[in-house]
Amino acid sequence: MEWNVRKPSLQCCSCGAKLEGMEFHSSLRDNGIEFDRLDFCLQCWDKVPREDFFSHWKTKRVKEEKQKARPRYVDQETMLDIFRKLAGGGSQGKEAFTFLLGMVLVQKRALRYVRSETREAGEFVVLAHARSGENFDILNPSLSEEDMNRAKENFDAILDTQGE
Ligand SMILES: [Zn+2]
Repeated sequence: MEWNVRKPSLQCCSCGAKLEGMEFHSSLRDNGIEFDRLDFCLQCWDKVPREDFFSHWKTKRVKEEKQKARPRYVDQETMLDIFRKLAGGGSQGKEAFTFLLGMVLVQKRALRYVRSETREAGEFVVLAHARSGENFDILNPSLSEEDMNRAKENFDAILDTQGE
């Protein structure tokens, strides 16, 4: 199935329906290098093979001027679910994404910072789930500032975690 991944505005990647102010489904597809975020209207989502996606969630986005009252685009549980999958072995090639997601979850107090460790494979950050204490070892990608900014832009475009 071919979908329009790069879209000029918020619209269904299958039928092109405008999604602003509507309920819709967002999904992450692993393209082998990074994630593509694909948004689907409710009708199209019913026809989509879910197993193609790394993660998906239902959401709603309101117009810019109502942004203050907007619900979280990606809720914390979904972010934790994505983080768990990545930390559990799915992060190959997505170290920057995993690291950034970990940092966002620390900011949200869903995870807490435990310690940093230098190992043979590099610098690791150990994070713990705030409630269960479950530990996650995340590779610090040690990117240059420029590369980190690029990774952050990509991350924000995919998960749209700003303004929460
Ligand atoms: Zn559609």
